[in-house]
Amino acid sequence: MPREYSADELLPLSGIQHFLFCRRQWALIHVEMQWKENVLTAEGRLMHQRVDDPFFTEVRNGVILARSVPIASYRLGLSGICDAVEFTSSPEGVKIPGREGKYLPIPVEYKRGRPKSDPVDEVQLCAQAMCLEEMLSVSIPAGYLYYGETRHRTAVNLGNELRELVQKMAGEMHAYFERGYTPKVKPSKACRSCSLIDICLPNVQEKATSVANYIREWVERD
Ligand code: SF4
Repeated sequence: MPREYSADELLPLSGIQHFLFCRRQWALIHVEMQWKENVLTAEGRLMHQRVDDPFFTEVRNGVILARSVPIASYRLGLSGICDAVEFTSSPEGVKIPGREGKYLPIPVEYKRGRPKSDPVDEVQLCAQAMCLEEMLSVSIPAGYLYYGETRHRTAVNLGNELRELVQKMAGEMHAYFERGYTPKVKPSKACRSCSLIDICLPNVQEKATSVANYIREWVERD
């Protein structure tokens, strides 16, 4: 039987994108509690503030839209907020008080930029869907990612490969968190857009050596 986490152990779901982007960045934010905003994160935050309108629900073309929906999964050990959840009429869905029929919840995540070459956004969306599935006892086959730069939304198929990646990442996040572990720096091209570059100092850290190595280098030099 897979482990279930307690409410105290839940980690922020949004961290899964940091973890996939760079495990060190995630650890600096979530283990060491350091955070630095750059222009990319500021724009993303402003966009989310526009989307986040708690408790607002509207109906468009028969689709019920709920914004800023709190979610959690005790199997993944994650909790967070869905930017939006669309409930579309479906016999596979759930009952909504005061409404006829059943509705399938579809998570919609809003992103500042444009689609990325790595699956960080898809993984975050899939984790949201897995939370909703656990909370509402439904199966959610797909979700949507909306990109502010292209003003376009893309349907994302939430297949097994993506779900396994979510499970793996969530498990690793908990293992790192329990150990209080911050991985060593591994500079990559991602560092150029990293909001923590001034805290992480990848070029300095890469050259840094352990005390033991430092002493050995000096002893061998003599
Ligand atoms: S600067 Fe590079 S290594 Fe450091 S946290 Fe950011 S992405 Fe990771």
